[in-house]
Amino acid sequence: MRIYISADMEGVNGVVLREHIDPSCKEYDIARQWMTAEVNAAVEGAVAAGATDVVVNDSHHHMANLLVDKLHPAARLVCGPGKPFSMVQDLDDSFAAAFFIGYHAKFGTPTAVQDHIFAYSQYHGVWINTIAVGELGLNAGMAGHFGVPVALVSGDKAVCEEARALNKKIHTVAVKEGRGRHNALCYPFTQTVAAIRAESEKAARNAKTIAPVRFDPPLILKVQFQKVELADYASLLPSSKRMDAFTLCCEVDDYAQLYRSFLAFTKLGRV
Ligand SMILES: [Zn+2]
Repeated sequence: MRIYISADMEGVNGVVLREHIDPSCKEYDIARQWMTAEVNAAVEGAVAAGATDVVVNDSHHHMANLLVDKLHPAARLVCGPGKPFSMVQDLDDSFAAAFFIGYHAKFGTPTAVQDHIFAYSQYHGVWINTIAVGELGLNAGMAGHFGVPVALVSGDKAVCEEARALNKKIHTVAVKEGRGRHNALCYPFTQTVAAIRAESEKAARNAKTIAPVRFDPPLILKVQFQKVELADYASLLPSSKRMDAFTLCCEVDDYAQLYRSFLAFTKLGRV
């Protein structure tokens, strides 16, 4: 059994500050240790359930946050910026399940820690076939494209609710409750690490009973930028259509193309 883990940082227990997620800040050094501890707990649970291969994709910022020398020996690590499939690089149909660790809610979620999608101040919203998605929904759709269920999500309470709204059978571990965008009630760290390990084992065992998240064709991606000039730049993507000053859309044939179109919008539509 192969298990795929996409690991983000904003949803890790203790992470509340911008400084925690910014490699140029001193607070970041401890946060990447917390992130590594949570990922290791997920790997450990997967191995206990019989996983023979665990691929971990570092999915935050420059995507070189996890401490490779401290990573569980059963895990192989995909890391570094510019990966063609970003937060879901190396995910394919050979995996029994995908786990999303350290995830955060989509932009516009109240009492969610660091809600956003990809860049921090770029999008107001992203929709697939009129369904509002954050990183969780976008990446879950890519797993679904390969027939792979998202079986486990960890992060703050808000992203766990977002996961259950996608599929109520997804296992979730809330490690903190946002009180605002940069504050939270954090649960005891050792308990949340133990909970990730336990739910990971259950999620890997139950993976077959969880339906993959699928978006039906025709697939329409709609993105709304926070600034008009960002939409101007992103409209360079030839397949895009301008809907209003802030909003672009494109229709695509398959989900991999949708994902790549989103990455193109994100790359083009920045200052
Ligand atoms: Zn993220």
